[in-house]
Amino acid sequence: MQPLIDNARTFGQRPEEFARLAEGQSPDVLFITCSDSRVVPALITGARPGELFELRTAGNIVPPYASGHPTAEAATVEYAVQVLGVSDIVVCGHSHCGAIGALVRGDDLGAVPAVRDWLAHAADEPAVSDAADPACADAVQHHVLAQLLRLRSYPCVEQRLASGRLRLHGWYYEVHTGAVREHRAATDAFEAL
Ligand SMILES: [Zn+2]
Repeated sequence: MQPLIDNARTFGQRPEEFARLAEGQSPDVLFITCSDSRVVPALITGARPGELFELRTAGNIVPPYASGHPTAEAATVEYAVQVLGVSDIVVCGHSHCGAIGALVRGDDLGAVPAVRDWLAHAADEPAVSDAADPACADAVQHHVLAQLLRLRSYPCVEQRLASGRLRLHGWYYEVHTGAVREHRAATDAFEAL
């Protein structure tokens, strides 16, 4: 923890770089990814403060949209789309994901009931059995596509897609290499960016 505190103490020593941020934010991209510490969106994309609006959840899960049942995830997506007017949403899954691995292996999550209930509520059953692959690449990639489908069911997303003002992207990030792959509709495969 101490190195993080030391860095935070000196981070604000470039006031000229940050002063303009007081005027507001207008990010172009909503970046949805896992809470995993190995995934650092600003490092992967090179984004500066103000450029990425982020939603991080266990397993980069986009829960089902349910009006009358507010969730932080739906609020974040809606704000990004309706208020900030982002033009692109990236759902970025990653290799060696603990959440997806637990689903694939059928782990007993009794010791972490909140995790168990979140996955049970929000995640679909893994579409492929990836138990022999520690990266769970196929399962994660299928999972990313399932989250993109979920996003399409959000009313604000559906509207913006219909009017051509929003694009969705599925990414797969390898924590052990740093490589990023994007789902290509033409081949229905995740290929190098
Ligand atoms: Zn993860």
